[in-house]
Amino acid sequence: MQKNILILGGGYAGLACTMGLEKRLKNEIIAGKVKLTLINKHDYHYQTTLLHRIALGTYSERKGRIFYRKILHNTNFIKDIVTDIDLNARKIYGVNGCHEYDYLVIALGFEPNFMGISGAKEHTYKLATMNSALELLHDLEMKFKNFSPKSSPQDLHFAVVGSGFTGVEYAAELKDRIDELCDICGIDRSLGKIYLIARGGKVLPMFSKKLSNLSRKKLTKRGIEIINGSVIECFDGGVIVENEGKKEKILANTVLWSAGVKGNEIINKLSAQNVSVKNSRIMVDACLRVENFDNVFALGDCAMACEQDIVHAPTAQLATQMGEYCSKSLAKIIQADIKGDKNACQIKPFKFHHKGTVCSIGHTDAVGFAFGVGIAGEVAAFLKNFIENKWLYAIGGPAMVIKKGQFRFRSSD
Ligand SMILES: Cc1cc2nc3c(=O)[nH]c(=O)nc-3n(C[C@H](O)[C@H](O)[C@H](O)COP(=O)(O)OP(=O)(O)OC[C@H]3O[C@@H](n4cnc5c(N)ncnc54)[C@H](O)[C@@H]3O)c2cc1C
Repeated sequence: MQKNILILGGGYAGLACTMGLEKRLKNEIIAGKVKLTLINKHDYHYQTTLLHRIALGTYSERKGRIFYRKILHNTNFIKDIVTDIDLNARKIYGVNGCHEYDYLVIALGFEPNFMGISGAKEHTYKLATMNSALELLHDLEMKFKNFSPKSSPQDLHFAVVGSGFTGVEYAAELKDRIDELCDICGIDRSLGKIYLIARGGKVLPMFSKKLSNLSRKKLTKRGIEIINGSVIECFDGGVIVENEGKKEKILANTVLWSAGVKGNEIINKLSAQNVSVKNSRIMVDACLRVENFDNVFALGDCAMACEQDIVHAPTAQLATQMGEYCSKSLAKIIQADIKGDKNACQIKPFKFHHKGTVCSIGHTDAVGFAFGVGIAGEVAAFLKNFIENKWLYAIGGPAMVIKKGQFRFRSSD
């Protein structure tokens, strides 16, 4: 009987898994023994790590979209929005219908985490999808296009809540973009203001103190004001920040919420099926399987994987490695299943290899570490682009890198 593999979500994790399975189960798919299906809510993949550039117009939307049907050759792609998962009945419910499976991979990614802050959901922009990045881009362009001496100065004030990767990458590149837009629109550059709100005053808290301080210095030098405190309320026109009991109102007509992420909301529904869920993430076993469901894997930002009690931080690097690992394990299990030997199949536990992390600070500067060594400046910026291009190479070879890649001194203009 044909084995039906269903992959939910075509981000880094889901796409790496799908492409790995296409390669490893090519013969079985061609022979009709395996059917591989990917479901995603859009018919294109995008590099989430470049959303800040799309939101600033420095990387074009057209370049950002990578259509699944152009890169997947032995996969049945279905455009649908998953609304529910029934693990006992082995059924997935979507807006367009019901999908059945023998093996399931859940890779539905992340959503912004508003942490119960009043007004955060309603009054802020987010960088979670291509569409949300385009909304932010539209806001930015309109603010400058419509600016006149009669406009409120707050129209050119931007508050970025959160000083992790998303917040820092966006704020740093926003500075260059604001200067450029001021010049184009004939506006005094000094009118543009960027506030980066950092809880505990820490910039890129996941980095060492040295790298974190260096990032702070680079941002301050660019003219970005770093506000030390936690946002306790967002309203139409700004945010309220609290630090050691003191409250401060930051007035800005554009607010980006980048203070945290959690797994996809749909995951919470799985608690009712005896699945362990924390922060909308599925707690997976050492082989990334969902407890009590040997035929179901969860990967990327919607999974919580531990190695020796250490929980891995959700990143694109982790999601990609999980996807590749899962394709290897699943291919092995399915090949054994086809031979009627599934129970004898042994798979190795997942092991994350942290190769380093780089955060861009504008187009030609960055900070981070690679293979345990701290790096900064143009070398780091080069490495950042190299990492982005490496993913393009993995999914589309050299032609994809040439078409959609980023090179050090080039934007999409
Ligand atoms: C601006 C920004 C910068 C970042 N920079 C870095 C960085 O430099 N380095 C790094 O390692 N990480 C970075 N990250 C984090 C990284 O992008 C995530 O960890 C990574 O995207 C997780 O991959 P994923 O495959 O789990 O999920 P995603 O990439 O979120 O993919 C999930 C997929 O599921 C689809 N989907 C969601 N819901 C549904 C549904 N209901 N039905 C059908 N399909 C659905 C989505 O369309 C998407 O294709 C950054 C994130 C952001 C937002």
